[in-house]
Amino acid sequence: MIAKDFNYYSPDTVADAIALLAEFGGDAKLLAGGHSLLPMMKMRFAEPVNLIDINGLNEIKGIDIDEENIIIGAMTPENDILRDDRLETACPLLFEATKLIADPQVRNRGTIGGDIAHGDPANDQPSIMLALDATLEITGVEGPRLVAAADFFLGTYTTAIQPNELLTRIIIPRAHGSKGWGFQKLKRKTGDYATAASAVTMRMVDGKCDQVRIALTNLGPKSFRPVKAEWILEGHPPTDDRIEAAVQLAMAETDPAADQRGNEEYKTAMAGEMLRRALQQAMN
Ligand code: FAD
Repeated sequence: MIAKDFNYYSPDTVADAIALLAEFGGDAKLLAGGHSLLPMMKMRFAEPVNLIDINGLNEIKGIDIDEENIIIGAMTPENDILRDDRLETACPLLFEATKLIADPQVRNRGTIGGDIAHGDPANDQPSIMLALDATLEITGVEGPRLVAAADFFLGTYTTAIQPNELLTRIIIPRAHGSKGWGFQKLKRKTGDYATAASAVTMRMVDGKCDQVRIALTNLGPKSFRPVKAEWILEGHPPTDDRIEAAVQLAMAETDPAADQRGNEEYKTAMAGEMLRRALQQAMN
């Protein structure tokens, strides 16, 4: 199908984009890489009257790394993450997991901000952000505000971003660079979304698990942390029994939708297996 007619705008600054959002109220959509939005417009699931192309917002493109944080502009293409050698050591979870997102063509235009802002439980960056305790900078007419990833994902295609705001930056604490990490994603073929995926970060302190973060992709209406699974590991040695108990608790928190990738039972089982493997990876 062909998208419904829309008015097209291409501001050069964040301030101009926000002014347009304020002018149009809820009757506008932001266009980043377009890999999620344009198919929805062609299928007429999204019919924005006004389309605001934010590809000209150079001020929110690029990656800065300081002593404390990695700060990534929302309009940074996924492939730019992979081109930045610093991230291989500063944030190996982000670097390695991004390689498994879609394919090189999609990553070339698809942005990290679009991946997060879309609020699609099948997207991988939301889980990565949850496991990394990222903070998301959202900007509106009142200026920027900061929202923890844990409070950002509200439901399917629903996030903490209000209609007159945009996601401007992603802030990842550098402390995660020294944590153990794991990312395991089951997909049917290269370029596919996850059937099930799990991101993990943790430290081993005196043989005990510390600061455990677990996040799951495509296993419920939104990306989420199965916190009971984190709690049962926290402060304890990772014995086989305890890992298995964590896996079972995480599986109990999943609520996957059946689709061409499998039924609920299969996806729940795969959630457990991805988590088992991600935990082992994070401990090594
Ligand atoms: P767009 O499609 O332009 O926008 C998506 C939504 O986010 C729109 O509603 C838009 O208004 C909003 N938005 C975008 N930027 C902002 C912003 N800065 N502030 C506020 N709102 C904003 N993703 C994965 O994570 N894992 C995968 O395995 C995967 N596989 C894919 C396979 C294929 C074949 C395709 C086509 C896509 C796949 N994707 C996957 C999705 C891909 O990563 C998209 O690029 C991403 O979901 C959206 O990013 P985008 O820049 O294209 O955003």
